[in-house]
Amino acid sequence: MSREKLEEREQEILLALKSIKDASVPVDLKQPVGRLSRMDLIQQQQMALANKKQLEIGLALIKAAKTRLDSGDYGVCQSCEDEISDGRLNAFPETPFCINCASK
Ligand SMILES: [Zn+2]
Repeated sequence: MSREKLEEREQEILLALKSIKDASVPVDLKQPVGRLSRMDLIQQQQMALANKKQLEIGLALIKAAKTRLDSGDYGVCQSCEDEISDGRLNAFPETPFCINCASK
């Protein structure tokens, strides 16, 4: 159950990363575009980059969670070693921390 969820999320992230990759071609500043649209482009690109970073972090979390599934540590907080609640695991299957540690 958890593994399927993690794999589903992994696929989603990989897809999202792929679409960002397609969208974030470098802005050519010498290109004769209007000033506003160039700023738009740069802004868009920065957003895509920030997004990409988030996605890559998510991907790393998922990989780590899958490793924990294999080792039997899944669902245990990596900080305080308490059990992570089912509700939280449902919402964030890749989370390494319980709600208390995550909100610290
Ligand atoms: Zn904890």
